Amino acid sequence: PFENDEIKKTRTTCVYCGVGCQMNLLTKGDKVVGTEPLDVVPNNGLLCVKGAFAYNFVNHKDRLKTPLIKKDGIFVESSFDEAITFIAEKLTNIKKIYGRESIAGLTSARCTNEENYLMQKFMRAVIGNNNIDHCARLCHATTVSGLAETVGSGAMTNSISEIEKADTIFVIGSNTTETHPVIGTYIQKAKRSGKNLIVADPRKIELAEKADIFMQLKVGTNIALLNGMMNVIISENLQNKDFIEERCENYSGLVSVTEIYTPEYTEKITGVPAKDIINAARLYAGSKNSTIIFSMGITQHTTGTENVFSVSNLAMLCGMIGRENTGINPLRGQNNVQGACDMGGLPNVYPGYQNVENNENRRKFEKAWNSSLSDKTGLTASEMIDSAEKNLLKALYIIGENPVVSEPDSSHTEKALKNLDFLIVQDIFMTETAKLADVILPASSFAEKNGTFTNTERRVQYVQKAIEPVRGTMEDWKILLLLMNKMGYRQNFSSTEEIMDEIAALTPQYGGITHKRILERGLGLQWPCPEKNHEGTPYLHKNTFSRGKGKFIPAAHRFPAEVPDNEYPVILTTGRILYQYHTMTMTGKNSGLMKTAGEIYMEIHPELAENLLLKQGETVKVSSRRGSIKVKAKITNKINKNTIFIPFHFAGGANILTNNALDHFAKEPELKACTVKIEKLYLD
Ligand code: SF4
Repeated sequence: PFENDEIKKTRTTCVYCGVGCQMNLLTKGDKVVGTEPLDVVPNNGLLCVKGAFAYNFVNHKDRLKTPLIKKDGIFVESSFDEAITFIAEKLTNIKKIYGRESIAGLTSARCTNEENYLMQKFMRAVIGNNNIDHCARLCHATTVSGLAETVGSGAMTNSISEIEKADTIFVIGSNTTETHPVIGTYIQKAKRSGKNLIVADPRKIELAEKADIFMQLKVGTNIALLNGMMNVIISENLQNKDFIEERCENYSGLVSVTEIYTPEYTEKITGVPAKDIINAARLYAGSKNSTIIFSMGITQHTTGTENVFSVSNLAMLCGMIGRENTGINPLRGQNNVQGACDMGGLPNVYPGYQNVENNENRRKFEKAWNSSLSDKTGLTASEMIDSAEKNLLKALYIIGENPVVSEPDSSHTEKALKNLDFLIVQDIFMTETAKLADVILPASSFAEKNGTFTNTERRVQYVQKAIEPVRGTMEDWKILLLLMNKMGYRQNFSSTEEIMDEIAALTPQYGGITHKRILERGLGLQWPCPEKNHEGTPYLHKNTFSRGKGKFIPAAHRFPAEVPDNEYPVILTTGRILYQYHTMTMTGKNSGLMKTAGEIYMEIHPELAENLLLKQGETVKVSSRRGSIKVKAKITNKINKNTIFIPFHFAGGANILTNNALDHFAKEPELKACTVKIEKLYLD
């Protein structure tokens, strides 16, 4: 219903999931009034419901519009000048009294690469430690550690457009149609055109209905299932011997560990019928090109890194990597979670995954940043929470994250954050976490800034300013510059383009990336893109793995940290739904989405519901060792018999119950599995 001549169109990148769809933002004056999809990669004219309709948060009345400083427990309006001066003084004092390790920062997968780069530089070069992390710790930290060890590079090996060209698509632990809807559409299209689809998931997700083989495994039994498939492949001689011989190491180790996982033994652990395991193994190994898609169902476990090892083992065993239309393809959740990792928003690496404990790397960054840097790996997000609880961490600076809702065991997180001497939150809305802050800095949204996001297929794409920052807010990179300078570190950038030039100079994978090139090409650039004349890399590990030889790292099955017992007899698993995004700070502002999916619920199998005498829609109490919530029952055959599913988006919901037991390698919490009891509520 718009008059065309009043509408301005600005090309940009969707702010929600890691697909990174290209769209025009339609604006009228200083308001975003619509979107339209662009017919280019990666979305080819498609947008999902979030990208298409959930833009109204940008001009929402609840946007934070002035810095706030808490005085006597009440937020008082302030100016940027006053707030930045206050923060600089407090951080300087805390550093002086408690040392540089007493301060930490959480950067943001919602911010641009340039902003993530500046945030980690602030922590490293100005504060002087490596205590920097972000929400990847909750989603794909185990992917990064698992792939780094086996193939040498912690990212999606192939491109989104290759998925539909694979002969067999194996989706394990990814509810793709809800979490990455445009990729979900491609998978369904591939299936319709005669390609094979294997799905492994504890829930009968939409893709499961369409799959040739659906393996409804028990929560937390991925390693056993993958070992079972590899056992079949090896015993039936279906492995790619030339590939193993030429490009891999430790094959004998894999053979000896997978030997016991016969289909029958695997069935006992996973609940998947032996014949389905055999057929899935034959189909995956016997196809010319097979691709593996995975997500949180693999990563959010205490065995997360070993789950990823097992995914790598399967792909290498069959030589399904290093070629087009194959590969190991972790789907990154947030719009720029890949970029936040690439930019060094991690406690162990500088930008470009250059280890902080390596002297040569440290010297390189010390010289470039003109600062003395720490040689000690910093705290992960979960360790920051624990250190705050123990009073070891004194100050935390959080940009664009809401750990009170997103971290497991929310009550513990909230208690820990309250224990800090000083909490700074920089966000666009008053989140549950911001309420606990001492200072809040109002930031600008994606529609109000220039920069880049890197999508799940390593494609660095442009984010373009459609409107000026909403009055009273400031772009995150400008806030960081103010703070760096106020704390005595001279840092001058006049645009995010200049920041990207510094990134390119220090980050080998981004060496050839400039804003100008991205804008000229209109298709982004996929890293590695080491030189200014390099066209980017659609798939990795072509002739050699990033680490040289691919390494089989076999893993043995272990159950989740909590298994059902008499007191907590039911397994809880959590996940995302199509109509909401993470902690709902943005989608929660859209009345259409809230009308469709504004209420927390629990999926429960009819047999379990009957045992508990539950009716459809009845509100029940669900408790774990960490807390209790009330939730409505949605009785469905989708879920395994002794398992319930609760979406994690809602404040005071699933993460009150979840367990913060960690993966040993990557310190990622086991958000996918804990145990609970369900009680009927007898209301008066
Ligand atoms: Fe945005 Fe992802 Fe939907 Fe594309 S699929 S429109 S990137 S949320």
